[in-house]
Amino acid sequence: MWRDPNKALAQSGPYLRSGDIRMRVAVIGAGYVGLVSGVCLADFGHQVTCIDKDSRRIAALKRGEIPIFEPGLDALVEANVRHGRLAFAADLSAVAEADAVFIAVGTPSRRGDGHADLSFVYDAVKEITPLLAGTAILVTKSTVPVGTGDEIERIVRARRPNTDIAVVSNPEFLREGTAINDFNHPDRVVIGSDDARARAVLAAIYRPLLDAAPFVHVGRRTAELIKYAANAFLATKISFINEIADLCECVGGDVEDVARGIGLDERIGPKFLRAGPGIGGSCLPKDGLALIKTAHDYGMQLRLIETVCAVNEARKHAMAGKVAAALDGAVGGKTIGVLGLTFKADTDDTRDSPSLALIAGLQDRGATVRAYDPAGMEQAKLSLTAVDYCNDPYAAAEGADALVIATEWQQFRTLDLPRLKRAMAQPLIVDLRNIYDIEAMKRADFRYVALGRSGQATIPVQIPRQRLRAMTA
Ligand code: NAD
Repeated sequence: MWRDPNKALAQSGPYLRSGDIRMRVAVIGAGYVGLVSGVCLADFGHQVTCIDKDSRRIAALKRGEIPIFEPGLDALVEANVRHGRLAFAADLSAVAEADAVFIAVGTPSRRGDGHADLSFVYDAVKEITPLLAGTAILVTKSTVPVGTGDEIERIVRARRPNTDIAVVSNPEFLREGTAINDFNHPDRVVIGSDDARARAVLAAIYRPLLDAAPFVHVGRRTAELIKYAANAFLATKISFINEIADLCECVGGDVEDVARGIGLDERIGPKFLRAGPGIGGSCLPKDGLALIKTAHDYGMQLRLIETVCAVNEARKHAMAGKVAAALDGAVGGKTIGVLGLTFKADTDDTRDSPSLALIAGLQDRGATVRAYDPAGMEQAKLSLTAVDYCNDPYAAAEGADALVIATEWQQFRTLDLPRLKRAMAQPLIVDLRNIYDIEAMKRADFRYVALGRSGQATIPVQIPRQRLRAMTA
């Protein structure tokens, strides 16, 4: 029976602010988004079951082992399991009881054409549709192209014609590494639905955030597009400052100062203005490609975003050349230490990480690579072979002709420089995250190569025309 959330909200007490309206929620997919969303919704007071078809993942979760690295997640899972609000399952039975079912399965790039691979989403929908309560709300949290909600609705209506099941888009904006804080303190909650009942249920589920964040109620297609537009904008901003970093190297400017100088302009803002080795991760690169493909489907071209994607991809591959340039053009036969394999700090996620392109490029040029990452080595081992994986940064520096800082992990900011120098064959640090002070490096007697800071060699980033043509075809 559907419970009126507004009525229940009116009776809610101050404790959880979701008061009496503890919703029964099922989350399909217990990955970075599903697990974090599930545990945070349980922490709001709802009764949540996180479901994943990976039974080993579920068995680990039931043993209290967290399959992903996300600061604070273990304690939050433990507390909510202990309070009986959070459960894990490899089967779908909890779906039948759920007021709302969130879909949080992966939507990777489809091999070959860059379209979002929606097979996981559609498979999940087909699996759960026969089990859904007749008034359930089906919520897409996965990042899906415009129109996916319409197709989900078509699948549901074809199988369950005489029900009130509503299909809602509720894109997720959390960032790995700060995911719990992001979920609990979002800049906005986007709810894409024209269905008043669905909106009310979502409002009830997100009740603890009602005072804290703007709720953006829009149509479903618009909600789907908001997520892609946000990621495309962020990718554009980073690519912009990366290009300015390259220009700084040519003209003798300092990109850190330029970023500060423009970021203080409120219209621009200081965030996402850190020069780096290119954007990685499981979202921004693949979502850019998917947006381009969506535009193609409608007969239009997103020239700006196409260029951003191409420039970013080229940049990741240009980084090995930058390291080679710092070693007088050649790394063949040299040993390179790489610190950081994940696409950013505070995650174990190496999907599309610039480090992978960097290491492959170094190996292609004949270098031996020693690498260390605080959390990402297991994932990296799945795609990078012939790397000497080390137990700490100093072991990675052992005998190295250059040490590359590829990820901005906190522990890489406070390295014991004299110890590093003793370990290395020559004192050269290539800092692709600009986390060190140039003067401190000089004092420690290191040759220090960073991005877009005064006095650095120029490594122009070339957009491979073939790739650009393929993307714009
Ligand atoms: P993930 O790969 O970490 O997790 C997906 C999980 O879904 C896996 O554990 C997989 O086993 C499970 N799964 C797949 N099909 C299933 C099915 N039919 N039934 C049950 N479980 C199933 O993915 P993720 O990084 O959490 O991303 C999920 C979605 O959220 C993607 O669309 C992504 O673009 C989006 N997103 C990700 C982030 C992020 O930072 N990772 C942020 C915002 C949005």
